[in-house]
Amino acid sequence: MSDSLINPDLRFNSYGTYLRRRFGCRVSKVNVDGGFTCPNRDGARGTGGCIYCDNASFSPGGTVPEKTIELQMDEGMAYHRHRLGSEKFIVYFQKFTNTYAPVERLRDLYTRALAHPDVVGISIGTRPDSLSNQALDLLTDLAKSRYVCIELGLQSMDDAILRQIGRGHTLDEYLETVGRIEGRGIDLCTHLIYGFPGETREGFLRTADLMAKLPVNSVKLHQLQAIRGTKLAELYYSGEFIPISHREYVSAACDFLELLPPRIAIQRLYGSAPIAIRIAPHWDLKNNQMWYSIVNELKRRGTWQGFRLAGTPCRVGNL
Ligand code: SF4
Repeated sequence: MSDSLINPDLRFNSYGTYLRRRFGCRVSKVNVDGGFTCPNRDGARGTGGCIYCDNASFSPGGTVPEKTIELQMDEGMAYHRHRLGSEKFIVYFQKFTNTYAPVERLRDLYTRALAHPDVVGISIGTRPDSLSNQALDLLTDLAKSRYVCIELGLQSMDDAILRQIGRGHTLDEYLETVGRIEGRGIDLCTHLIYGFPGETREGFLRTADLMAKLPVNSVKLHQLQAIRGTKLAELYYSGEFIPISHREYVSAACDFLELLPPRIAIQRLYGSAPIAIRIAPHWDLKNNQMWYSIVNELKRRGTWQGFRLAGTPCRVGNL
């Protein structure tokens, strides 16, 4: 099973390949802002937000996007059609916590997104503490006929790190929410970050073992980045946050992939905050150079996703 899931050129199961397999054409994600806020900012869980969260995007009382989601979708789809030749789209409710609203508002937004004939599904970014059973029932209903993915931010499985970075939730809350999502026909993506102050590579790699045990369909991973105006940027200036090197990140990301079952698709492997607002790290690499630094390291090692797992087939395409 596993070998056919891995893209032989990349040496891992890329989400792009997964989407092409599932929908039979090029599918792109189109970001929309549904006007949500976040319980880690509005006082329900916290007020300051996660220490790396971009304060420039904070707007007390909740963001109110000026454009309708239909207009945002049209613009995003036109961009991806022109740039990548994409034929179908997944509408990604990305900004802040996209289940943090009354269920009727969620129903209105999600069904409007799914009404477009070129939209095959929706992806919903949220926090482990913000998925009510009503919202989950709504998504379960939609998932009976459409692709629905919940993108759950975990970032770290270490509660001490979660406290340190002001996430406002625990590993147990993530696990409880994963348990409620399981078996509902909904895809689950988990967001992870590597490079927190005091984090060790060994500690980070335990996250791959955790992902392997859970019904996780895809992951997003990126290096911790300090953005202008964030608490993390202050820690960087005071010397309390020392960014990891590119070499360390690439090596840890490859270790992570080697421990991750091939059934889990890779949605993201690096962060690319705009250089104008990124304080650190500055690795001076373009997006495709970041991507290929990991692919090339796997090639240099002669390994691939799941390489270190017992029972993973030893021949993957032309590897
Ligand atoms: S959960 Fe997301 S939106 Fe909320 S404070 Fe953290 S990073 Fe920002």
